[in-house]
Amino acid sequence: MTARTGEQYKAGLDDAREVWLGDENIHVASDPRFAGSINGMAGYFDWQHKYADTCLVPDPERPGEVMSASHIVPRTAEDLQIRHKGLEQLSRYSYGMLGRTPDYVNVVLAGHVARKDIYDRAGDPVFYERLRKFQREVIEGDLSMTHTIIHAAIDKSAGELAGMNSDLTLRVVDRNANGIVVRGGKLLATLGPFADEIFVYPSAPVPSGAEAYALCFSVPVGTKGLITLCRDHYGVDADIADKPFSSRFDEQDAFVIFDDVEIPWERVFCDGNLDVYNAISPAVSPSNTAQQICIRAMVKLEFAYDLCTEIAKVTNSDKRPEVAVMLGEIHTYLSLTRAAVVAAEARASNHSTGDEPAWFPHPDLSALRCVMPGWMMRVNDIIKHIGSHNLLATPTAAAFENSHMGDLLRRYLPGANGMKAEERSLLMRTAWDFAGSALGSRVELYEMYYFGSAGRGFMTDHMVAQMKGEGGQVREFLKESGAWRVPG
Ligand SMILES: Cc1cc2nc3c(=O)[nH]c(=O)nc-3n(C[C@H](O)[C@H](O)[C@H](O)COP(=O)(O)OP(=O)(O)OC[C@H]3O[C@@H](n4cnc5c(N)ncnc54)[C@H](O)[C@@H]3O)c2cc1C
Repeated sequence: MTARTGEQYKAGLDDAREVWLGDENIHVASDPRFAGSINGMAGYFDWQHKYADTCLVPDPERPGEVMSASHIVPRTAEDLQIRHKGLEQLSRYSYGMLGRTPDYVNVVLAGHVARKDIYDRAGDPVFYERLRKFQREVIEGDLSMTHTIIHAAIDKSAGELAGMNSDLTLRVVDRNANGIVVRGGKLLATLGPFADEIFVYPSAPVPSGAEAYALCFSVPVGTKGLITLCRDHYGVDADIADKPFSSRFDEQDAFVIFDDVEIPWERVFCDGNLDVYNAISPAVSPSNTAQQICIRAMVKLEFAYDLCTEIAKVTNSDKRPEVAVMLGEIHTYLSLTRAAVVAAEARASNHSTGDEPAWFPHPDLSALRCVMPGWMMRVNDIIKHIGSHNLLATPTAAAFENSHMGDLLRRYLPGANGMKAEERSLLMRTAWDFAGSALGSRVELYEMYYFGSAGRGFMTDHMVAQMKGEGGQVREFLKESGAWRVPG
């Protein structure tokens, strides 16, 4: 198998996976409620063929075959540039409204593979060899992966792995000749029911004594004992002109329960080794993974700027000062994001201490994860300010086809400057589906939390800066100027 088509992707979902929607154990591949979203995800696989010149690259290990550019293990500046072009084009499929297209976890996995030096800390080469082999399986099957990396901490007054939380979250409960047996919950798994594999890997460090929780592995979503509990589905069976996003792009979040799941040894990449576990996330996430998330955010902000400009033109208000200020605000977020991506890629370097380089962007790029949630929420706020009630005066495409209603709408609901009523309605419906529909609200929550909370991001940035010894300017200034008269 090489890069898959949408039809091949859909065929792969027809297995024995245990997926629950409400109180029903459903068959994902044929459930009509999921049809629009699964077709939407299939469209992503077709898109990589449509834009094969950027989305697909030669597979270095299989002459004549291609793979997604997101699988590149970056060793050089050129690798990063090629990957950038692929990721940008893949994001344009949904203009960033799909956050968890498979390229996301592909980039994460490629980052792990690039950091052999960290996996080598296990002192046994078998763990890295398994990881490397697993990446080949994903490439050659063009598998789609979800990931779930956050401990299911229910009681926030206790530590993440303390009190009741220690019994609820995922951990090893047994080992046997075949592999490890794991039990507990993890959250969330966006794309969970629509993925082929679930990759569990380190997020935040765990303390000494918590080795049972220090796991990295992957298993097929259809593995016995793996239960995927979906949130309400926000995808709708509607004309694409009425719901351009909700009709195709609900990537479906899920809570995942591992009810004594056996993970075969060949899929266990870290089993309680804190030297490896605690080093992986800081080594891969702020630099390597950040390239994918920031490119997606950049593409989404491009779309958001254009969308807001378009809806302002509907009422001929784009040049009004209060509206121009808001449009400029979004454009500023876009420019800052573009600049940060370009700068981080230009300042990329070898992050590995091993024989093969891991050529990652500069980790400063991850600063965007702290401010981007606020920017994305502000974009939705601006859509509501500019669109106002017009976001709701939006007849359906079918209403225009009704001869009586269509005539009335064309007469009473046109846009300004001769804009046709159909165009006005389509633009406003697109804006509402982006920011205000059930799916739009879920996407806003996604932007707030999908890469950890902004609060944790700010706190981590401060602690890393202190660990690196940043600071000293205040004392230097006071001493240089002669103001420092503190005894001792
Ligand atoms: C739609 C959606 C999809 C997701 N998909 C996935 C997925 O596929 N895979 C996955 O693994 N995860 C996923 N996540 C992320 C994950 O599940 C968590 O939601 C996320 O990490 C936030 O967790 P939390 O509530 O524990 O946040 P916290 O970090 O506890 O933050 C909660 C609030 O507290 C604030 N806060 C936190 N720490 C501090 C502090 N020290 N001081 C002051 N304020 C603080 C934060 O700013 C925030 O407002 C997803 C999340 C969402 C919403």
